[in-house]
Amino acid sequence: MIKLDYDTIAAISTPPGEGAISIIRLSGSEAIKIADRIYRGKKPLAEVGSHTIHYGKIIDPETGQVVEEVMVSVMGGPKTFTREDVVEINCHGGLMSVNRVLQLVLDQGARLAEPGEFTKRAFLNGRIDLSQAEAVMDLIRAKTDRAMNVAMGQMEGRLSHLVRDLRQDLLEVLAAVEVNIDYPEYDDAEVMTNRLLIEKAENVKTRIEQLLSTAKQGKILREGLSTAIIGRPNVGKSSLMNSLVHENKAIVTEIPGTTRDVIEEYVNIRGVPLKLVDTAGIRDTEDIVEKIGVERSRKVLKAADLVLLLLNYNEELTPEDRELFHLIEGMNAIIIVNKSDLDHRLSIKEVEKLAADRPLITTSLVKDNGVDELEQAISSLFFEQGIKTSEEAYVSNARHIALLKKKKLKRLLPMPSILPKAACLLIWRRLTSAERGKFSVRLSVTRSPTA
Ligand code: GDP
Repeated sequence: MIKLDYDTIAAISTPPGEGAISIIRLSGSEAIKIADRIYRGKKPLAEVGSHTIHYGKIIDPETGQVVEEVMVSVMGGPKTFTREDVVEINCHGGLMSVNRVLQLVLDQGARLAEPGEFTKRAFLNGRIDLSQAEAVMDLIRAKTDRAMNVAMGQMEGRLSHLVRDLRQDLLEVLAAVEVNIDYPEYDDAEVMTNRLLIEKAENVKTRIEQLLSTAKQGKILREGLSTAIIGRPNVGKSSLMNSLVHENKAIVTEIPGTTRDVIEEYVNIRGVPLKLVDTAGIRDTEDIVEKIGVERSRKVLKAADLVLLLLNYNEELTPEDRELFHLIEGMNAIIIVNKSDLDHRLSIKEVEKLAADRPLITTSLVKDNGVDELEQAISSLFFEQGIKTSEEAYVSNARHIALLKKKKLKRLLPMPSILPKAACLLIWRRLTSAERGKFSVRLSVTRSPTA
């Protein structure tokens, strides 16, 4: 593997905030040289063995002033995460001191690493494959523990192994076909009958399909489940959102640059990251009488994977409520009948009919009743058979899904019998007429009666 030569990068590789220690990581051909300019210990780092750790001091070379007391790990490439020379400076946890050391490193010629750049180098230098590199980014962005476990599994190469195994199986089939043709006299080689080939192709097909069946869950874990809360004015949409956000850790990302800044809010519902759609819309229109009418719902619904439709237990069903039911036809939805603490004026029977087989939950958001049931309903709606454990590989990334669904594979897989036929045709073309004679004899001998 050729190692590409890049400039030396540096970054604080521990999370921001005060911890017991903070680590500044340098990677690149100048990493050790740069560290040596600010490090004073028993020996210069250039003279110590690889993969060793050393006590010393960090000094400001301009003033000679001691800045930090540190432990420095020196790891020579290629046995490092990036395959480059890596130096890790372990400082005390304080934000000031770690920033000061980073600044010194940058002053001495390192460049501040971009987010994910260490991983990018690991990938470019052949240390990890693309799916693992993507997993590291997923890990950084993971919104729930489950999403993190999936990313972690992928980072460890679980998905790569699976795909490698599939590839290996296909190669073995091809090899077996070739051996059968080239050395028909070998008794110990597996005899490739049509039936055996179909069986093997079916097996690969099943495994690819199994992997693809995790795509829905994987995508949800990775990107969050776009959730729209809809309902007539005053049914309790804001109250529901607040209760979901307050009870669960919310992660807010602001996307500036749009006419009105869009706020994406994520809440972690039993491991399912819900991305609440257009929550800013619900909040910002506090003064407007028509808070979220049918027109608005139509827009919001377009982007939703899940709809939470709220109704008011204290009022009879209105034409607008029916219209909302109409709008969510064919969508994943949970019907919530709120304000159960007030008089029950709504006909539950009628709602049950409209809800059809979708879950129906009764809540009182002011009394905090029913929210648990709602969370359970959300979780089981998307992980019916229970979420797979982190031991399994998921496909969640659009690129992986597209590759697994690749047209060629799709065309081949529903008709595994094409595989042996195509193989025979290909091989037939390569044979001399004498060999063809031998081959036909062998084929008629080895072909199983049902093949
Ligand atoms: P939105 O217009 O759909 O966003 O509704 P809000 O969440 O702003 O709620 C409208 C009013 O209904 C507020 O005064 C809430 O306090 C009240 N409310 C919400 N949920 C309940 C509930 O379960 N019971 C009662 N009694 N009032 C509720």
